[in-house]
Amino acid sequence: MLKTGADYLEGLRDGRVLYVGGERVDDVTTHPGFRNAARSYARLYDARFEPGGEDLWVEEDGERFAAYFLQPRSREDLEKRTRCSARIAALTHGMMGRSPDFVGGYITGAAMQPEVFARGGDRFAENVTGFYQDCRRRDVFLSHAVAPPQGTRDKAMYGREAARVPSLSVVARDADGITISGMKMLATSAAFSDEIWIGNILPLAAGHEDESVTCIVPPNAPGLTLWSRKPYERYAVSEFDNYFTSHFDESDCVVVCENVKVPWHRVLTIDDIALSRAIYFETPAHTLSNHQAGVRYREKMRLLLGLARRITQSMGIAGVPAVADDLGHLAALYGMMSGMIAGQIQGHEQLPGGFVNYDRHVMYSAIYFATQHYDEICAKVRELSGGSVLQMPADVSVLENPVTRPLFEALWSTPQQSALDKFQLFKLAWDILGSDFAGRHLQYERFYMGPAFVVRAHASRECDWAGIEADIDTLLSSYGPGPLLNPGMAAGDGGGSGKEAQAALPAIAPTTAWAT
Ligand SMILES: Cc1cc2nc3c(=O)[nH]c(=O)nc-3n(C[C@H](O)[C@H](O)[C@H](O)COP(=O)(O)OP(=O)(O)OC[C@H]3O[C@@H](n4cnc5c(N)ncnc54)[C@H](O)[C@@H]3O)c2cc1C
Repeated sequence: MLKTGADYLEGLRDGRVLYVGGERVDDVTTHPGFRNAARSYARLYDARFEPGGEDLWVEEDGERFAAYFLQPRSREDLEKRTRCSARIAALTHGMMGRSPDFVGGYITGAAMQPEVFARGGDRFAENVTGFYQDCRRRDVFLSHAVAPPQGTRDKAMYGREAARVPSLSVVARDADGITISGMKMLATSAAFSDEIWIGNILPLAAGHEDESVTCIVPPNAPGLTLWSRKPYERYAVSEFDNYFTSHFDESDCVVVCENVKVPWHRVLTIDDIALSRAIYFETPAHTLSNHQAGVRYREKMRLLLGLARRITQSMGIAGVPAVADDLGHLAALYGMMSGMIAGQIQGHEQLPGGFVNYDRHVMYSAIYFATQHYDEICAKVRELSGGSVLQMPADVSVLENPVTRPLFEALWSTPQQSALDKFQLFKLAWDILGSDFAGRHLQYERFYMGPAFVVRAHASRECDWAGIEADIDTLLSSYGPGPLLNPGMAAGDGGGSGKEAQAALPAIAPTTAWAT
């Protein structure tokens, strides 16, 4: 059943414990560091009931569910999921990476192949299916924490010694369930979610099996605390000064568990490092969630392109050939990303059980593209902005002072733009290019799927190396040593005109090996 925004906000008032430094936050829906982001999420829930909201839900057996819980069985289903994420990204300008459709994709994709979970025991296959149904029915917002602290990872991949650090692990188990203690690296949007997916997606060193648990816990579980980084929303001056910061700070929290009890039906893998990772890659979980990441990134690119265009127009430089060329470069990058999203649908694969999935190789390639180009795109928009962004008054209070307002309006206006319009444009640009919020986004876009070498490894794993090797072997085997084509030009014969040899040129049968 579809929740409303009000239902969603009510659900956040559940006694969860969140720390900002030494301050305990009692209610994220009212706290000045979190309340507007909570409302932005609530807006996503309400949007489903508004005209144009049909992309956000699907109807099955007379009941409506969030479209990100749709298990795709056709190309149309994949397109529906894409449109759903595109709508969410449009409502958040691509600023909320872990909106409900991200980890919603995890549980949906995982439950499409429960047999992978059954490798750990039949009950885990039942657990993933049951939990998926539960999330869909309760319209759950899931966040996730799947990266262990650095010191616990596999030395073969990371080149550093594994160390005993307080990484989240299973410390006890009984007939009712398990007990977990320790910490997990960042869980974006956990402060605003209904459930937290705890897992392990990175190679762990042998001996760290007790840290490979995958389970789902509510943020208000006794013993669980969330430790937030600085909430930028709290420091937003006004909506006009910090539009994105004031609305879309999705927050990042370290998850700390102190003897948190998890019933067995919420456990998905245990004691198996390889299986704890395989559930993401051998099911569509990673692909469904990270298709969303590409769609969201495209929306953000669109915004940055819009800013670049308006800024250059405002500065009167849009017609300068070199500037137009820079805009063309950005336009080409945007087109590449759009193409890679379409390519994930075009190249979709058939799965057991009648399901389909986006093209995994193209999905990882799109993420790699995204991680590698975000800095460059932002740097280009900054470059085009020159010093204009810092030429603006400190904040919107300049408009309230009868002395400063008329002066500002007279001096900052240009023939093409009023001072106020210019002020708004450059403040908006600086909020995503130069603020604290912007700095966090630079880091997010680089690391949300792990460092670049990990993303490359994913792309390589999904690449059709066998087909590529077969093609090169076909080409190599299509010809071999044979008569010289031009004996007169052969190495070591002293050159010469070669006229006689050309006259005797043997015909070569055309080969199509390269095209097969
Ligand atoms: C803003 C933000 C939000 C996040 N949100 C979430 C979330 O919601 N859920 C979640 O589970 N996680 C989240 N993460 C965590 C993310 O998964 C990790 O940051 C990511 O996996 C990278 O791990 P790391 O930070 O430990 O970096 P490391 O793996 O320690 O890498 C640090 C640097 O060392 C380099 N390096 C290390 N080893 C090698 C090697 N063998 N070869 C080459 N280079 C190497 C890397 O390339 C990188 O430059 C988030 C991170 C950020 C920054």
